[in-house]
Amino acid sequence: MATALITHADCMKHEMGEFHPERPERLSAIHDQLIVSGIAGFVEHHDAPFAKMSELARVHTAEYIETIRMAVPRHGIVHLDPDTAMCPHTWNAALRAAGAAVLATDLVIGKRAENAFCAVRPPGHHATRHRSMGFCIFNNVAVAAKHALEHHGLERVAVADFDVHHGNGTEDIFSHDERVLMVGTFQHPFYPYSGADNPAPNMANVPLPAGTGSQGFREAVEYVWLPALERFQPRMIFISAGFDAHVEDDMAMLRFTESDYGWVTTQLKAIADRYAQGRIVSVLEGGYALSALGRSAVMHLRALGGF
Ligand SMILES: [Zn+2]
Repeated sequence: MATALITHADCMKHEMGEFHPERPERLSAIHDQLIVSGIAGFVEHHDAPFAKMSELARVHTAEYIETIRMAVPRHGIVHLDPDTAMCPHTWNAALRAAGAAVLATDLVIGKRAENAFCAVRPPGHHATRHRSMGFCIFNNVAVAAKHALEHHGLERVAVADFDVHHGNGTEDIFSHDERVLMVGTFQHPFYPYSGADNPAPNMANVPLPAGTGSQGFREAVEYVWLPALERFQPRMIFISAGFDAHVEDDMAMLRFTESDYGWVTTQLKAIADRYAQGRIVSVLEGGYALSALGRSAVMHLRALGGF
């Protein structure tokens, strides 16, 4: 079985304005680095389907989904908040992004792929049950995790989030849900200024001060994530794969390198091999320095695929 790479051309058409950092070129940067690194031929490519309304509705309220659908502009760009906007192609892109995560889950649980990475946008981990924010519209990773729990009947799943920003949307959706353990690292204090105060018992959050590099990240994973995952024994692991904590990414002030992304992926893979039949679905979140994003995604995929 191969590692699946799921994306769709519609995800390139979503635009939030000429100077917005969450831009289509992010996906081209990943694609280009896959080719340059020689690993494009080792992954199995799939086109993302549209997520079904019933799949989105496991995570978001019907009112919220309808509000987004109605807000899609015919021309130009409409802002949902100062950071998050929609163009005429956004609805399709958002459905493909969530649909990629659902397909990835089906492929991995159905043993048609060893594990999977979804190179999609818009990202998802800031989207709460009833609110878009921080470039995110639908919470792709949460849609996938709920699909594993409620469609496939897995008993419990883990979500690991190493984006530089706290995954407040995913936390909103899964707080106090005993079927889910979320482990996260994020710069703090920093946008969205959450995650550090009194999280639910199923949240293993590690706020990291600005300037934290490889050593601080790896200690957080070794001393907090891995013991929590060992205790929880997840039947599947979902990754919110944001690469914006990279030292070259000036969105924030953490100092990770691409080798850290390979390392953390290897750690998560070991847990998945022990408790979850190797099942991992990873979904792209942030990462705005194009070269660093592409190189980091390659290290992540190399670790997932073992090549
Ligand atoms: Zn981020």
